[in-house]
Amino acid sequence: MELLTEFKEHLKEIENLNHANAILYWDMQTVMPKNGIEAHIDSMTQLSNQSFKLWTSKATDEFLTKLAEPTNMSQLDDISKVMVKKLKEDFDRDKNIPPELVKRRTIVTSKSENEWKTAKYANDFETMIPYFEEIISIAKETASYTNPGEDPYDALLDHFEKGMDKEKIAKIFSQLRDGTVPLIEEIAKRAKFDDTRFNGEFQKIDQQKFANYLMNVIGYDLDSGVLGETEHPFSSGNAPFDVRITTHYHKEDIRPSAFSILHEGGHAIYEQHINKDLVGTTLNSGTSMGIHESQSRFYENIIGRNKNFWNIHYSKLQECFSQYQNISVDDFYKGINSVFPSLIRIEADELTYNMHVIIRFELEKALFDGTLAVKDLPTAWRDKMKAYLGVEPANNKEGVLQDVHWPAGLFGYFPSYTLGNIYGGQFLERLEKELGSIDDILVNNEISKITQWLTKNIHQYGKTKTPAEIIKDTCGATVDAAPIIKYYTTKYSQLYNL
Ligand code: ZN
Repeated sequence: MELLTEFKEHLKEIENLNHANAILYWDMQTVMPKNGIEAHIDSMTQLSNQSFKLWTSKATDEFLTKLAEPTNMSQLDDISKVMVKKLKEDFDRDKNIPPELVKRRTIVTSKSENEWKTAKYANDFETMIPYFEEIISIAKETASYTNPGEDPYDALLDHFEKGMDKEKIAKIFSQLRDGTVPLIEEIAKRAKFDDTRFNGEFQKIDQQKFANYLMNVIGYDLDSGVLGETEHPFSSGNAPFDVRITTHYHKEDIRPSAFSILHEGGHAIYEQHINKDLVGTTLNSGTSMGIHESQSRFYENIIGRNKNFWNIHYSKLQECFSQYQNISVDDFYKGINSVFPSLIRIEADELTYNMHVIIRFELEKALFDGTLAVKDLPTAWRDKMKAYLGVEPANNKEGVLQDVHWPAGLFGYFPSYTLGNIYGGQFLERLEKELGSIDDILVNNEISKITQWLTKNIHQYGKTKTPAEIIKDTCGATVDAAPIIKYYTTKYSQLYNL
């Protein structure tokens, strides 16, 4: 159909601009010299403006209106039908946002993220206050155009996780909290696993060697990806052919880099397995941040913190890092699953991790409904850490400034991590029903079986299914924390002899 071909050419122009922008972002985060920042921000702002103008143009409106007419719609193939339907929804949501507002957001978030890098190490929250205020104000103003009459925080949540709002999230999070707090309390009474021997001085070159090994083990395709180095690991992609990941090598501890490779690798594997037919339709990316996190956390935790995974791969770790030759695989397994309340989210164990997310969710909610002022954020942070985890940060670097999300403008993103854990539990339960115990799969070194199952049920669909549709079609259920609570209970009861 000629109309469809023309529309796809129009989409291609938008996609090219977004692609160039993503590469500039990657460059900015990985290798850009410090003084390159102004020119980068200029180019990125121009590209995203141009892309946004094209997307909200009269031409897009006309294409979508015509294609959505029943006579035209009936002639479209299945993928194009979904594309037109989804894009029409997105277009109707975005069409009223003033381009000026998008431009302001790009400038503020780029500057804020860059400023954060210095502010974090200087323990300087003051510098970030105007940025946070501006970002929140822009988010609220944007919501007034995209979701008029709705709660702005709900609009953000729905943006990252279609169909979610703060009420639903509060409910599912409290199910999870009720199911895991007793476990955390029981574990606190037991002796702490000693992982002090894990610290030392590790060469970057050895960590890079081990990173390459892990990428290969989980099946991250380096012909369609590359590994870079950043302060905060992330993945970004033009799926399925160019999906990149980053890590951060810590001199004193190999674990953060190793587990970030598994985590970001999980994100990337998801996108590398999206159906190639979705290229050029804008549906070739993960469907939501929650489903994305369910995949990254599946590789990081459900696979990467499993005993049988390390029974196979521990000898390679020992070969790369001689210090580990004196540590048994049993002790390593305990060390990577040691549960204790700590300050840094990305270094937290599987159980207390969710508390970090719940704290951020409650703080974001309060910032958006006006019950918490930005300037009071460090205090509110400390209070909640003390109340929920019993620990208190000594400074903002270990507290409110530890994560890039808020400086990067990503309010509403944090709940995705815990939703991802919850979805992951549901996927695991279903996978084991179909393929048998994951312990057996891992002891046989058959991660590719798991990836095939995830591809069949989740990866291949890209954005053609909503998160709720994926959960329903795969697990025959709605979102439910019970399976992940069961997984935590079984795993940690064994580890701690509860
Ligand atoms: Zn992630």
